[in-house]
Amino acid sequence: MTYPNWLSQRSYLSGDRMALSFQQQQWTFSEINTIALDYAGKLSALGVKENSRIAVLAKSTPEFVFVLYGCMHLGCEMVMLNERLSSNELTYQINDAEVTFIFVADVLKEKMNDSRVVLFSEVENAKSIQFEPQQQWAKDRTLSIMYTSGTTGHPKGVRQTAENHFSSAVSSALNIGIAPEDVWLCAVPLFHISGFSILMRSLIYGMGVRLYEKFDADQSAEEICNGSVTHMSVVGVTLERILTSVEQASMQASDRFKAVLAGGGPIPIAYMKRAKNCGIPVLQTYGMTETSSQTTTLQVADAERKIGSAGKPLFLYEVKTEKPGEVGEILIRGPQVTPGYIGKFAERDVQQDGWLHTGDMGYLDAEGFLFVVDRRSDLIVSGGENVYPAEIEKVLSGHPAIQEVGVCGAPSEQWGEVPVAFVVLQQETTVEELLAYCREQLASYKVPKQLTIVESLPRNASNKLLRRELRAWV
Ligand code: ATP
Ligand code: MG
Repeated sequence: MTYPNWLSQRSYLSGDRMALSFQQQQWTFSEINTIALDYAGKLSALGVKENSRIAVLAKSTPEFVFVLYGCMHLGCEMVMLNERLSSNELTYQINDAEVTFIFVADVLKEKMNDSRVVLFSEVENAKSIQFEPQQQWAKDRTLSIMYTSGTTGHPKGVRQTAENHFSSAVSSALNIGIAPEDVWLCAVPLFHISGFSILMRSLIYGMGVRLYEKFDADQSAEEICNGSVTHMSVVGVTLERILTSVEQASMQASDRFKAVLAGGGPIPIAYMKRAKNCGIPVLQTYGMTETSSQTTTLQVADAERKIGSAGKPLFLYEVKTEKPGEVGEILIRGPQVTPGYIGKFAERDVQQDGWLHTGDMGYLDAEGFLFVVDRRSDLIVSGGENVYPAEIEKVLSGHPAIQEVGVCGAPSEQWGEVPVAFVVLQQETTVEELLAYCREQLASYKVPKQLTIVESLPRNASNKLLRRELRAWV
């Protein structure tokens, strides 16, 4: 089973439409396809072939897009490297993936010392040679490989096939809708599924992408309010900064603006209320690298009555929990689910019994709305009771003196395990005051047995809390 080459097909069908804009520059689909073909010829000259596995390390710039699209014409497997990783972490990934080339943006050349490195400037200066652009793409072709954030252990290299990306884009369109004038603001990294999926939607829908190298709250707010973009992808922190900017300028979102897609974790209810006042519809989503991101989505209409929910699955997908009606591991099935990992985790069967076992715990309420509770690996069993660190963190982060908080389990002779908390303060307070606050709101077995004030919490390159490092602190 095949698809027509998305780049050629899009250029053929709507070549005159805007494909990409960056700062003052703009490219149509036919222009971008011409550049991509030229890049494919240059990459061929350097020795890249069909099925080559290559890696790319870059910031979100047009050159990054040209290299990716060139590779897609050639039929490569593209390992997307996170530029925020340390050199050691990058080395782990390129060795695990056994790539033949590493294409690196010139500004990042210090990060990577490896004989396989080819700088973007060397690609640009190469002389394009004749090659045979692929007419058809096999659906099970691996388009991209992305490493998970490494929150629970070693990052895992996830294969994302053409079918995974296609079904993800189509399911999202069935949910949000598409129109010819749509432009998606991309200020999330292109190496992450949140950004890469915007490029795939662009090719599949014929939609324009407004690309930013870095997130800028004021510029995002400006574009949302002046109607130059219709969609944007955000996480909680970036949404909050956009809202502040819109509020300070006393602006309102343009009527043309349709929605922000918010992922990575639950969005606090306070942000949802502020977004409503700014005229910004927020769609909360749940997903992971293994599902090409967005798998469930909470509609704007349900946001207030289903606070804390990640919504319902998109049309093509199914979600269930291990134990119907109670908290259990979240299982996912659908054409967006990866066929598997590469490298160290290649042998792991990701679809036992046809379902992806996510490692996340959650439940479906009586109406079928999904609530994500916490990571399975972080569950604390204390005196036979299940304690989810996220619940305790949520309570503590509601205290005005607390800036951020992390909770994990500590061994206990009496209870097996007990919860302990680490907090970063933004105002002065005492440990006793914080524990009293917990006792007001939590059952006694959930109240941290120890609470330590620290300077900062351990986080990974995606800014996610590393509870396994907290456990090492204990
Ligand atoms: P690793 O698999 O290496 O431990 P990771 O799971 O953090 O890293 P990602 O694929 O980037 O890597 O993140 C997906 C995870 O993020 C989900 O499995 C889930 O735990 C969390 N997540 C995503 N969206 C939400 C949400 N709306 N609510 C709660 N958690 C979410
Ligand atoms: Mg994961």
